[in-house]
Amino acid sequence: MQLPVHLTGPSLLPASTSAFLPGRDAAAARHVELEQVRAGDVGSIHSWELVTAVDGPGTRLTVFLAGCGLRCQYCHNPDTWMKRNGTLMTVDELMARVLRYKPVFAATGGGVTLSGGEPMMQSGFVRRIFRACKENGVHTTLDTCGFLGARATDDILDDLDLCLLDVKSGIPETYQLVTTRELQPTLDFGRRLSARGIRTWIRFVLVPGLTDAVDNVDAVADFALEIKNVVERVEVLPFHQMGRDKWHELGLEYQLEDTPPPSLDLLARVRAQFWIRGLTVY
Ligand code: SF4
Repeated sequence: MQLPVHLTGPSLLPASTSAFLPGRDAAAARHVELEQVRAGDVGSIHSWELVTAVDGPGTRLTVFLAGCGLRCQYCHNPDTWMKRNGTLMTVDELMARVLRYKPVFAATGGGVTLSGGEPMMQSGFVRRIFRACKENGVHTTLDTCGFLGARATDDILDDLDLCLLDVKSGIPETYQLVTTRELQPTLDFGRRLSARGIRTWIRFVLVPGLTDAVDNVDAVADFALEIKNVVERVEVLPFHQMGRDKWHELGLEYQLEDTPPPSLDLLARVRAQFWIRGLTVY
């Protein structure tokens, strides 16, 4: 959800039909489309990438779903925030593209990663895509901040092979400052993954002056330790400025203008806070 910076410009997907209809007809068609999105029949998709060695094992088709309810200060892709700005696509259309890559997934141990934005904004669509993937023998990964983890039905978790859980801070006040939202739903979702034995990679974005306090990192590391039965690795992701231009283009106030990437010493200190607890850290 956070790295890399997603593709910009037009999606590679077919345009929404309502774009070609004038006036009231277009509004009515758009209403029908949004109802379909709500029902999970159709997804609102920002973009996608074919990636290797990120977003899960092997070569993966990472699909970035549009929409997010958080407002992270360090978000690299604020252009994914609005669900209405995505391009609409049916489950069958997306699966046709997924299945084209099935030989690549099989050869590399890869699969499909649903990311965002926050994919659980479209939990019905996630459920259908994951079900279709499992019916076709395709590995599934969910890249989520966990804030909407309550929307992850047992059906979704039954079809989930790997979760990339973004834990944006370990102290509630810092989490609120970073994201504008509450930490607790993420912790609840992580504990649910643990109880169900779902493989999990924890991701933590290290931002100097924002998320780097020793006690904040300790709190994330303690949580990772608590659900260690499913945590295969912790990825400490260094903050970078590659998303700054998007904030400017969207006319948004960017609060990290002068924030540098973490130094090597800081990265080493933070990684050691996980490592010392016996966690595998990258
Ligand atoms: S969870 Fe945060 S970083 Fe991820 S898309 Fe939403 S605002 Fe951006």
